[in-house]
Amino acid sequence: MLTSGATAFAVATLGPDASDLPVHQVLETVTPQVTELSPLSAADVLPFTLYRSETVRNGDSVDSLLTRLGVADTAAAAFLRRDATVRQQILGRTGRTIQAETDDRNALSKLTVRWVDDDSGNFKRLVVTPEAQPAGSVGTRVFTSRIESAPLVATERIGGGIITSSLFASMDAANLPDRLTTEFAEIFSNKIDFHNDLRKGDRFSIVYEALEADGEPMSTGRILSAEFVNKGVAHNAMWFQADASQKGAYYAFNGDSLQSSYLSSPLQFSRVTSGFSRRFHPIQKQWKAHTGVDFGAPTGTPVRTVGDGVVDFAGRQTGYGNVIFIKHNATQTTVYAHLSKINVSKGQKVAQGQNIGLVGATGWATGPHLHFELRVSGQFKDPLNIAQYSEGRKLPASQRAGFERQVALSRINLNAAATIQQASAQ
Ligand SMILES: [Zn+2]
Repeated sequence: MLTSGATAFAVATLGPDASDLPVHQVLETVTPQVTELSPLSAADVLPFTLYRSETVRNGDSVDSLLTRLGVADTAAAAFLRRDATVRQQILGRTGRTIQAETDDRNALSKLTVRWVDDDSGNFKRLVVTPEAQPAGSVGTRVFTSRIESAPLVATERIGGGIITSSLFASMDAANLPDRLTTEFAEIFSNKIDFHNDLRKGDRFSIVYEALEADGEPMSTGRILSAEFVNKGVAHNAMWFQADASQKGAYYAFNGDSLQSSYLSSPLQFSRVTSGFSRRFHPIQKQWKAHTGVDFGAPTGTPVRTVGDGVVDFAGRQTGYGNVIFIKHNATQTTVYAHLSKINVSKGQKVAQGQNIGLVGATGWATGPHLHFELRVSGQFKDPLNIAQYSEGRKLPASQRAGFERQVALSRINLNAAATIQQASAQ
């Protein structure tokens, strides 16, 4: 298992092809025994290979990249400038890692770039190499490029940290990407309100999948287990799928499902929304006099349905502006108002978490926000208590033994992640 720390990342990024481990031949300085009769020829010096890797930057040209990679090779540069595949997969691809292998005279012997362009579970590998030349031949070397395909390898990584300001800031400090931060907040969203409940000194541990191409991290997969200690109370979560025929879900270690029929918020926790807290109606100051809850967020922030249901109304209404009503069952309806855009139509079936529109300021709104309501049998209810109308999913008794085994493993991994928290606090 690898940590998500900077050191491990650097090792993985710089790692060469597993099938092609570097051979570093250390040449000691020796006094060449040169005589006029037998001059030292190039063939007497053992060749060695240098490995360097660089990240493509905005505005990079073939020449600026080769310079940073330490490649001095006019034939290679000319080929790379000309080759359509190279131009398409390297130039303008900010953030991609380019690996170069050169000989002792900085001539290019191999250039490799890896990326993922679909969900097939495979990655692409562009390889540029000089064509083999007959021994002793002189003249311009000829290069070729080819694109290969190979399976991504899933590995487990751990990360951890302590909250100092925001969840995003602490996850950034632990080198965890935004996608994991959002997923982490979603997993615990029915237990913790990440907008309002976060405290300095709260701690998180996380075990997640990473997908690697020849050892280079390409993307993160699912969170496998996580722990969040909030105000001294530990909350834990584990992804559990009894077998391929069952639907996987997140559970607390005691077997309670963390997913339910309603999401805790119609706005996904993100870098944009994390800075905003729920606000109450500016005049009435509390939801009871108002009819719902207002979420301050910039115009254009995606709005999602908190539960499965059918669109009961999608259009304009006085006061509400562009508004969507979603009927979840015989008695429960949620309402999303002041939208700048509506992405669904009446009668359409929607699934929990599906995007239905965008935040706006239509109708009676002083600024961009989402007005959100929960109605039960026609009565306005406090949407902040929506969890009480939610049905939790229970772990079937037949899966309990397998679940307990996996919990034991998760505890071990999370303990390892907790040592990273301690290190980060020092
Ligand atoms: Zn409102």
